[in-house]
Parts: sequence; structure tokens; C-alpha cells
Amino acid sequence: MDKLTPCPPWLVDDATALLARSTGGRMPHAILLSGVEGIGKRDFAQSVVEALLCRNRQGCHACGECESCRQLLADSHPDYQKLMPEGASSVIKVDSVRALVDWLQLTASQASHRIALIEQADRLNRNAANSLLKTLEEPGEQAILILSATRAGALPATIRSRCQKVTLKMTNQAAAIAWLEGQVDDPVAALAGAGGGPYLAVDNASPESLAAEEKLLAAWRDLFLHKGSVGRISDSLSDLDTSVCLATFCRWCLMAIKRREGVQGVATAAVTEVISETQARMTNDQWYRFYDRLLQLHRTDSASFKTQMVLEGLFADTRLMTISAATR
Ligand SMILES: [Zn+2]
Repeated sequence: MDKLTPCPPWLVDDATALLARSTGGRMPHAILLSGVEGIGKRDFAQSVVEALLCRNRQGCHACGECESCRQLLADSHPDYQKLMPEGASSVIKVDSVRALVDWLQLTASQASHRIALIEQADRLNRNAANSLLKTLEEPGEQAILILSATRAGALPATIRSRCQKVTLKMTNQAAAIAWLEGQVDDPVAALAGAGGGPYLAVDNASPESLAAEEKLLAAWRDLFLHKGSVGRISDSLSDLDTSVCLATFCRWCLMAIKRREGVQGVATAAVTEVISETQARMTNDQWYRFYDRLLQLHRTDSASFKTQMVLEGLFADTRLMTISAATR
């Protein structure tokens, strides 16, 4: 690491509140960190870990100079380990989790805490998740396990119930918009288009993401305006990540519902155009049903599905709904 990780400015209050618990000796041993995609879970968790381990913490910031901070900078801190999905399979392997758990239960060598962070914990398979249960029940005295997940609901209930939940929300929009200035063209629209996740807003402005959005907009338009077969439309999205397709459609669906209720919302011109073209194609009830199905698919392990199969079924049903709405 070149430098320590600053807490995202819009999450400083959350970090301060969590760290205040450690001073009172009330730090939870297991934390489940969740929040919408791009809210900043990774940097939040990393900055909290750094502050917890720092020997000379200032507010919610690590000092950057003490021995602990120097070890973090050298990626060699003996009391901190991090796990995330490996390789193309994007799963966290059970062996890695077991090794982490064994390590966590040793006594901290020098710091007041021994911390393990598992990023994208919703990618833990059942075996890997189960191997955490014992640690969650009897954590070492100084152990802190932080699980971070966008889709916290995808984790087994046995895990969720043993963790203290910390849900990160966008409570300081002004700080996020200031942070986005200079990174994206229109910070307000970009943040709204990213569902309140500033990091996602930056990702969305990349050339790859813009190309993906163009494909998704074309598919949405063709689906609702009955241009081309359902098979062809889902085919056109086959190289995109399923969870990206589902998350984007969820946002557009909400936008269509809001617009039907007279709320304009903020979005880019291209998105606004397509939504206004298609919002009358289904009744409110049908839009809600479509939204529920998208959300349900998005919450389940959609990453392991084949995009085409998932979307084709959904599109076929939606076509039927739009036909019945048109003939009513
Ligand atoms: Zn320090």
C-alpha cells in the first residue's frame, strides 16, 4: 500500500460511531457491514481497521506514523488479514476461510485487536460460511471479524443472526457530490443513476460501463416496445454480468414507477428518454411485480446463473404482461 485508506467523507459519522464503541470496550466481535453497491464498504472497512489498530488514532483516522500504521503500509501487519473472492470463480474457498478462522483465534501478538475482514462475503459458499459459525460463537478475546456484503440477505441466517449489523447509508449527499466533482460530468445525476453509491457512479462513467448501459437501454426499449424476439434481446446481454443487468433494471423499474406517480427523479438524458418512452407499457401493479421479481433474482445468488437463462424467462413473462396491458 502506498498510503493508508481515508474513510469516504460521506461515511465519517458512521466510522466515528463504530470506533467510539471500541474506546468504551463495546466493540462487537462480529460485524456484518452492508450497504448499496458503491457506497464505499471496502474503504470504510479498511479505514476502520487501520484506525482500530493505530496506536495514536486521531478521530476516526489512523495517524500514519506509528509502528502499527507502518506495518499496515508495508502490508505486513501481524494482526490483520483480509479475504476476498479469488480467481475467475469469484467464490471464497472454504480452505481459506478455515485458515483465517484458525489464525483469528490465536492471541493478538502486539495490538489490542486481531482483525479479519472478509470482503464480498455474499460470495461465501455454504461450506465456507458454515466454517465461520464456531468463530462467531466463541471469538477469541481480542478477535474482530468483519464481513462485508452488498447482498447481506444472501448470507445464511445462522451467520446474519450472530453478527452486529452495520448498514451504511447515504446520509451526507453533499459530501458525496463534492467528492464526485471532477470525476464525473454531472455528479447529481451520476449519484442518482448509481442508486446512491458514489464509487459505482465513478465506475458507471467508464467507457466499458457506458457501452454496457447502451446495450441495456436498447434491450429495455426493445422489450417494452416489442421490437424483436425475447431470445434475441436476452442474447444481446449475454456478455454482461447478470447482477449488473438486474441492478440496473431494478433502478429503471423504480424510476418508471416514480414517473407514473408524477415524480420526475434524476437521471441521465438517455435513461430519462427510454424510461419515459416505456413507462406507460405496464400498469402500476405490473411494474411492482416486475420490480419484485428483479429484486428477488438480484438477492439470490444471481452471480452463478447464466445471464441469458435468467433474463430470457423474465423477459418472456414481461412481454406477456405488456401485451395484456396494451389490449386492456
Ligand atoms: Zn498510527
